[in-house]
Amino acid sequence: MSAEFGATPWGRVWVRTVESTVASAPNPALPKARSLARNHAATLSVEAGRVEADVVVSGVTHQVRIELPHWSEREQAEAERLIGKALGDRPGLAAGDLPDSLEADLRRDDIGIAVPLDAMEATCPCRTRRRPCVHVLATLYSLSQRIDERPMLAVELRSPGWSPTAPADPDWTMLADLDPEGFYGS
Ligand SMILES: [Zn+2]
Repeated sequence: MSAEFGATPWGRVWVRTVESTVASAPNPALPKARSLARNHAATLSVEAGRVEADVVVSGVTHQVRIELPHWSEREQAEAERLIGKALGDRPGLAAGDLPDSLEADLRRDDIGIAVPLDAMEATCPCRTRRRPCVHVLATLYSLSQRIDERPMLAVELRSPGWSPTAPADPDWTMLADLDPEGFYGS
């Protein structure tokens, strides 16, 4: 069975963030939120540091807004280095895609892809007492799907004003990696 949410490591870290609400007690809002996301109830608009969504439930639209912290300067610099290298190593990668191994590299360097629930500022005008409400959870599930489709979105969310690109001339890296002795050797 293919994963409906979190088909890539990029989306999966976001799904884990959403489901971390289960840690303390079972949250009945999670299956409902999954069902809303599955049925495209949430219409997302995503930019660096912000996710907005109109979540329609029984004909009522809930306007969800989620603010996410940007990467710190250290995280940003290190992420740019790792992403630039990963893209340079994989010139054939489709636009918007990122290699799975890069997610592990970032994690090893303590660079968070997803934002823990208590580090994001989520607002929804609904009157549910329990937070995050089902509309916020549905928005995050939908976000994980968008990220599965286009992993680069996970990076763009955390790094304003930066669009990751491969090194201008990928051949340069390849030549630099060649051993001149072996290349010209007899
Ligand atoms: Zn709500």
